[in-house]
Amino acid sequence: EQTRLRAAAFETVYTADGKRIEIAGNIGNPADCRSVLANGGDGVGLFRSEFLFLERDQMPSEEEQFEAYSEAAREMAGRPVIIRTMDIGGDKQLPYLPMEAEENPFLGFRAIRLCLAEKEMFLTQLRAILRASSQGKIRVMFPMIATEEELLEAKSLLAQAKEQLRERQLPFDEKIETGIMIEIPSAAIIADQLAPHVDFFSIGSNDLIQYTFAADRMNQKVSYLYNPVHPAILRLIGRVVQDAHTHGKWVGVCGEMAGDPLYAKELIALGVDELSMTPSLIPRMKQAIKGMSATTLIYK
Ligand code: PEP
Ligand code: MG
Repeated sequence: EQTRLRAAAFETVYTADGKRIEIAGNIGNPADCRSVLANGGDGVGLFRSEFLFLERDQMPSEEEQFEAYSEAAREMAGRPVIIRTMDIGGDKQLPYLPMEAEENPFLGFRAIRLCLAEKEMFLTQLRAILRASSQGKIRVMFPMIATEEELLEAKSLLAQAKEQLRERQLPFDEKIETGIMIEIPSAAIIADQLAPHVDFFSIGSNDLIQYTFAADRMNQKVSYLYNPVHPAILRLIGRVVQDAHTHGKWVGVCGEMAGDPLYAKELIALGVDELSMTPSLIPRMKQAIKGMSATTLIYK
């Protein structure tokens, strides 16, 4: 059974009603690409870049980051790799970047908020990602976007990083696809305003559920609120997909719910185009997709 699933995993999968669904893997470092490939993943839907920054005593250099991102690009051999810019802050502290203690770290100074303030650190990462885009199909994604202004500011820094590389005459993909995570309810609600500025959305359901219900995703006492298929979540996701599709953009889901066939069935019915999950879950998901319907349901 395992062998049969694995063989089937290398196929491109379509729903019963004929829609192609991309099944990708979530990774935490470039070596994990091998597991994505071994399980038949169509690409990397979420490369959490934090591993480069944590558990060390100084900032990783542009070269060191470039090496890590390039390794993933080369390993995936032309399949897409979505690199998420650093999601540091909150509970993830860096010894070389002093940050004030915060009353509510998960509502605080983290991810894109920190990056927009620490511009040199962010530009260094963006240049490394851009340079790696000359080695394969790299896409760049910003985490924790809450407003249109933040997105425009992040994009302007990306444009600045491109300009710096042109000055240094270093190659990169001029048309690198740029997306954002939809993981804060405000972003889901204004998806129609955000869509024109991106190439894709990836829904971070772990945080989207946490912030929608104001329920800590790690706290067992409030886990009864943490329901991925509650109408509040399905309505939000359905709206995000419709707004994205209206603007000709695609939508993935990279939170944990994307790896569970029961939840994935709902996501596919809402029109989601890509699912990204722990690599070992890919073969079973590819099998399950074939029995699903992508005829869009609307949750009102
Ligand atoms: C998410 O929030 O759903 C997500 C994929 O990001 P992380 O789990 O890294 O917060
Ligand atoms: Mg998140």
